[in-house]
Amino acid sequence: MQVTDPVCGMSIDSAKAAAQEAVAGQTYYFCSDSCHSKFRADPARYTAKEHGGKGHGSHRCC
Ligand SMILES: [Zn+2]
Repeated sequence: MQVTDPVCGMSIDSAKAAAQEAVAGQTYYFCSDSCHSKFRADPARYTAKEHGGKGHGSHRCC
């Protein structure tokens, strides 16, 4: 299964992911331990989809 690493945005194969983490019933996959560490340091930053996420410009909020 092709999944997206929420930290770096890379497409990876879930079977080959270096790490995975389940948050609120959703499983996230990571290309490397370093991405996993970043995610664990601040999961909300990478899981809050409705807030527009990264990428300034296209969406204005607040
Ligand atoms: Zn990554």
